[in-house]
Amino acid sequence: MSNNQQITRRDLSVLWHPCTQMKDHEWLPMIPIRRGEGVWLEDFDGNRYIDAVSSWWVNLFGHANPRINAALKAQVDQLEHVMLAGFSHEPAIQLAEKLVELTPPGMERCFYVDNGSSAIEAALKMSYHSWRNQGYKGKHRFVTLSNSYHGETLGALAVGDVSLYKETYEPLLMEVFTAPSPDCFDREAGESWEDYSVRRFADMEALLAEHHKEISAVIVEPLVQCAGGMRMYHPTYLKLLREACDRYQVHLIADEIAVGFGRTGTLFACEQAQISPDFLCLSKGLTAGYLPLSLVLTSESVYQSFYDNYENLTAFLHSHSYTGNPLGCAVALASLEIFDQDQVIENNRQLARVMAEATAHLNDHPHVAEVRQHGMILAIEMVKDKASRTPFPWQERRGLRVYQHALSQGALLRPLGNVTYFMPPYVITPEQIRELARIATEGIDLATRD
Ligand SMILES: *Cc1c(COP(=O)(O)O)cnc(C)c1O
Repeated sequence: MSNNQQITRRDLSVLWHPCTQMKDHEWLPMIPIRRGEGVWLEDFDGNRYIDAVSSWWVNLFGHANPRINAALKAQVDQLEHVMLAGFSHEPAIQLAEKLVELTPPGMERCFYVDNGSSAIEAALKMSYHSWRNQGYKGKHRFVTLSNSYHGETLGALAVGDVSLYKETYEPLLMEVFTAPSPDCFDREAGESWEDYSVRRFADMEALLAEHHKEISAVIVEPLVQCAGGMRMYHPTYLKLLREACDRYQVHLIADEIAVGFGRTGTLFACEQAQISPDFLCLSKGLTAGYLPLSLVLTSESVYQSFYDNYENLTAFLHSHSYTGNPLGCAVALASLEIFDQDQVIENNRQLARVMAEATAHLNDHPHVAEVRQHGMILAIEMVKDKASRTPFPWQERRGLRVYQHALSQGALLRPLGNVTYFMPPYVITPEQIRELARIATEGIDLATRD
């Protein structure tokens, strides 16, 4: 029995893995990882894999990054954790100062949480509670976009719209308004991304016009609906949405948990629409893939709507045990320093160009509907019939075949249904991107052969 097999056998007798039908592992080998370095993951048999999906979109500067490791080691000797109610610490303050400076104008207050879904829960509660504190008592509904994803806890699941994750739990979830996504995959032949996204806004406008008195906030993933299959839209939609939210007195929650920290080509996706949300949720890349930490940034005016004498009971009495964990904050600061020192956003433009060039030929593939890209996220969508864009039946699990082929070739390319995508750590090289494109092309050939 190989080392991988030995470890896997122990794993399967005690663990229950996330987002997995465990029975699949009767035939689909699990990959136990012994160590990571840069873009590479190494298993217990010594096989190496390029981590093309940044370990579920969290890693920014490679595994075991020396600069981030050093910051973490220094912090752990100083202070590992302290409660953040009534107490404070330097890394939490410094990170909040830095983020207030780097995020779009008007983001002036930082509320720490400890994972992405919890940041969404906090933003939803804050939005509703802020209106209530200001005397608007009927504003308790939320608007989401079709095909959106905001996490797995019940509130976050309710404002999401990926049926694979949501449908089973529907009876447990609050009701939301759903507007059609501006996702440009559905545009007419010859229609531009901008025209389609703008056209889609009409439904959102109508929804807000009719129900704004009951609506607390609209929640969106700016520019890319990641878990929904890396579907993308034009920044103009966000501009229109910001204007409408102002007109109808509705908050805008920007969930940049996945797209923040440079993924779409700018540090934050909202920058491309030149808008500021009322709430900005950050996690994942926040700690460069090291530790669970998240936060909600909001405006001074939202903050002020909670600020009153204790007896008036307007405070936001929400907390999590690991709120603002110092190790997470220290690592986040080290990551932001790398952005600064290495001019990461500028250098990524070159990597994004290489990603586009290396995959351009797939546009002509008979079973590829499109290759789409926003900055450092590039997605390739397989279809059964190219002309009609008829998808392969989901039961055939074609994406999984690409995944298996990629593993055999030394790449981790975990798909989303029939969508294969690259969302690599920023330390990837042009050669490694070309290698990924070669592996993905072979995988897609194999997966669509019969
Ligand atoms: C991953 C994700 C979340 C949830 O974050 P978790 O830390 O997994 O709970 C929320 N929103 C978006 C857009 C995400 O990609």
